[in-house]
Amino acid sequence: MFWKKSKNRKSFKCSKCGEVHDQLPALAFLTPDYYGYLNDEDKKNIAEISDDFCVIKHPEQTDRFIRTTMTLQIIDACEDLDYGIWVSVSEKTFDEYKTDFKNNIEGKTYFGRICNEIPEYRESTLGLHVNVVTKSNGIRPEIIPHESGHELIKDWEKGITISEAERRVQNMMNNVG
Ligand SMILES: [Zn+2]
Repeated sequence: MFWKKSKNRKSFKCSKCGEVHDQLPALAFLTPDYYGYLNDEDKKNIAEISDDFCVIKHPEQTDRFIRTTMTLQIIDACEDLDYGIWVSVSEKTFDEYKTDFKNNIEGKTYFGRICNEIPEYRESTLGLHVNVVTKSNGIRPEIIPHESGHELIKDWEKGITISEAERRVQNMMNNVG
């Protein structure tokens, strides 16, 4: 697992109920899984990665990835569960997104594919089709999944329980390197 180390939980005053809650830490993947699969030499020689962009230059093709967020609503609590997920995009999308990145352009939609395996799902989450919608104020773009029968997409549509969210957070904590 390649989770990013999460910071301590922050509290926030809830706009829904007025109470103070502890925020769930984001479940953020450090890299696209395809970067994680590379050996150390290839990581050095054919890949470039930053907090928001990753490029892998294979002899036959170049793969491009951007960091996005995906939010699962929680049915029985006020918090949401946020994932930090890498999405592969076309060269055109990558170049345009990168050019606009500093300009905070909101509401642009790009097509991409999820490039992280979320461990809670029996069926692979790699390659799921999504739209990526840009946000202003330096907020990472948000995933809007395409309709599908995948459990992740059902969870995105319907939400998950707080106990399931806590279980996923605990699972991540146990797997942080
Ligand atoms: Zn609340």
